[in-house]
Amino acid sequence: MDLSYIINCLGEYENSEIPSIAPPLVQTSNFFFKNVEDFRKSLQDEKGNLIYTRGNNPTVEILNKKLATLEGTDEAITLSSGMAAISTAVIANVKAGEHVICVQKPYSWTYKLFVNLLSRFNVEYDFVDGKDIKNIENKIKQNTSLVFLESPNSLTFELQDLKAIATLCKSKNITTIIDNSYCTPLNQNPHKLGIDIVVHSATKYIGGHSDTIAGIICCSSSMMDKIFRNDFLNLGGIISPFNAWLLLRGLRTLQIRLEKIGKTTIEVVQFLEKHEKVTKVHFPFSENHPQYALAKQQMKAASGLFSFESKTKDISKIEKFCNHLKYFKMAVSWGGYESLVFPTCAYVNEDSEQLPINLIRLSIGLEESEVLINDLEEALTFI
Ligand SMILES: *Cc1c(COP(=O)(O)O)cnc(C)c1O
Repeated sequence: MDLSYIINCLGEYENSEIPSIAPPLVQTSNFFFKNVEDFRKSLQDEKGNLIYTRGNNPTVEILNKKLATLEGTDEAITLSSGMAAISTAVIANVKAGEHVICVQKPYSWTYKLFVNLLSRFNVEYDFVDGKDIKNIENKIKQNTSLVFLESPNSLTFELQDLKAIATLCKSKNITTIIDNSYCTPLNQNPHKLGIDIVVHSATKYIGGHSDTIAGIICCSSSMMDKIFRNDFLNLGGIISPFNAWLLLRGLRTLQIRLEKIGKTTIEVVQFLEKHEKVTKVHFPFSENHPQYALAKQQMKAASGLFSFESKTKDISKIEKFCNHLKYFKMAVSWGGYESLVFPTCAYVNEDSEQLPINLIRLSIGLEESEVLINDLEEALTFI
């Protein structure tokens, strides 16, 4: 199906009595029935019917249909945050006494989900360097039920070979989940490579305007039956209709935003790679990235998030550099219209020890590349 059709038309206008161009925002908590028979029939299947917005809502359904089609899965659901999507997908697929393998340096709250939350429910975990599939293979035990991937991860941009890991896990009956936030459904479709469940933080590029927190789970219908009917309805992480409506609006421009951001990012990366104050740039679509070949193989393009290491490890100099930037705002998150800087020296956390102190992450927004390069050039004089 043509990408512009999915983004602009799919799932819309179908049952609407009001011929509005913009999708209807159905801001309701519940739906009424005209007779007991219909009511009773619907209550037997919360997944397939409009009963209550914690399960289904027409505005959210438009979005879900588009996202499933973009990701190449039977179904998708949208949740109130990326973490709601991650925790719901994980909890639906582990039980006490089982073991999970997760890649090193995942998103910080994914790390804490295993270390602080699931450990209380007797789920064991191991974090491994996923660059080499052997590290995953070596940790697989009799009770391993889940492998959690993030490729590339969002601070050091290491990749995993998705097809090979999916094949390995399928042969051992282990469920695979990937956090695909970095790539968006436009630049990488892990389900097509055999990964069971694809999750996203839609807060990032899919929303794209730094005004909405949201998450997505994409998978087969049989897996979605399992996730939806129990854990999703129990955990209650549904998105509000209004935030789904904002995501539909963000989605309209996802392709053109990614194109523009992608172009600018390559120019900024090339500038930094040549700069004497920079020792290393971590960007999957640079020829200097150690996994460039794998990136080319499984990703259509990179996005606008990358990191670099400054020549100095002197925190006061790094602070001056960051404080001096005018166009890069200092903030967490990424994937919005605005460029951002996130220095790891500001990040003191239980999982931050493995990160170099001179690592600085940039998220490229919709500004012109010359403006951003000039801003960096000036600020780099402080390093
Ligand atoms: C932001 C982020 C998340 C969490 O998403 P929220 O929408 O903030 O809950 C998960 N994974 C990655 C890679 C992220 O950057």
